[in-house]
Amino acid sequence: MVSRSAMAVGPRGTGVGALLARAARKPALPYNPRVNYLNADLHCHSAVSDGTLAPEVLAARAHANAVELWALTDHDEVGGQQRAMDAARALGLPYLTGTEISVSFAGTTVHIVGLGFDPADAALLAGLEATRGGRRLRAQDMADDLARVGIKGAFEGALQYVGNPELISRTHFARHLVETGVCHDTHEVFRKFLVEGKPGFVPHRWASLGDAVRWITGAGGIAVIAHPGRYKFTPTEEYALFSEFKAHGGRGVEVVTGSHHAADYVKYADMALEFELLASRGSDFHGPGESYTDLGKLPMLSGRLSPVWEALDDKIRRP
Ligand code: AMP
Ligand code: MN
Ligand code: MN
Ligand code: MN
Repeated sequence: MVSRSAMAVGPRGTGVGALLARAARKPALPYNPRVNYLNADLHCHSAVSDGTLAPEVLAARAHANAVELWALTDHDEVGGQQRAMDAARALGLPYLTGTEISVSFAGTTVHIVGLGFDPADAALLAGLEATRGGRRLRAQDMADDLARVGIKGAFEGALQYVGNPELISRTHFARHLVETGVCHDTHEVFRKFLVEGKPGFVPHRWASLGDAVRWITGAGGIAVIAHPGRYKFTPTEEYALFSEFKAHGGRGVEVVTGSHHAADYVKYADMALEFELLASRGSDFHGPGESYTDLGKLPMLSGRLSPVWEALDDKIRRP
């Protein structure tokens, strides 16, 4: 059973008395960790990885969109954390440290979000650096594969959109293919290119699931399965992912994310309960005009779930 503080929310009463009591219990502070209905956005990307906005600009956008708890989760990198934290503090916005680690599992790339860790932890930093290693070589192979179908110069093209060459990703190739008129938008790119079976796809070996979970938890954070609805797993593989993730010490799963359809909210709420995982919520915003879901513009978590921020209360950096 997931441990909860004595006053934690849910499993909730459903009688009229309980409803009235809940309505009367207005939070005394702008941020109340015992409430599921918090506009928490714990997944997004800055230009430090494959987003288009600076951490400070994202912080201001989160604040303007009434986000109440924010985490910047750049891919395989924590280089933007201090800037995000400083900007959040200046805006009076509570903040959790974050990252999104690329993992290989059952022949697929799975993403594991880490929240509330110490961003200076040496083992975590070494693990992230090792995970970033090889992106450049992979990108050159991707460009070679695109050249095979007549798209030349994609490596140099993608590099134009990259802040840190160590973090060159498919997203940067996608932007280049849109900018040069090969596709209308990045969503079309990820249907026609860069995915398994299509030009520009290069299989890559990322971190192991166990390592990623241990780097995060070893640094005092909580590991969360990112957007589970996005992987094309069979039910057996998905069950294996959840079981092994838990066995390694993973504690959370994204239920409400910009990458999920409405049916996924229900499916993964059920999975969170079945596997006794904490639930997370995040837009996965990469930039205006590119991401469908803006910062903080998501449905609330279901009241029957235990939000991950409840367990991270002591890790929240409050202004
Ligand atoms: P990489 O880490 O280089 O494999 O790139 C993965 C990134 O590509 C993800 O973090 C997303 O930003 C983007 N991406 C992957 N698949 C899609 C998709 N189907 N639609 C839009 N963006 C995608
Ligand atoms: Mn991305
Ligand atoms: Mn992801
Ligand atoms: Mn992401």
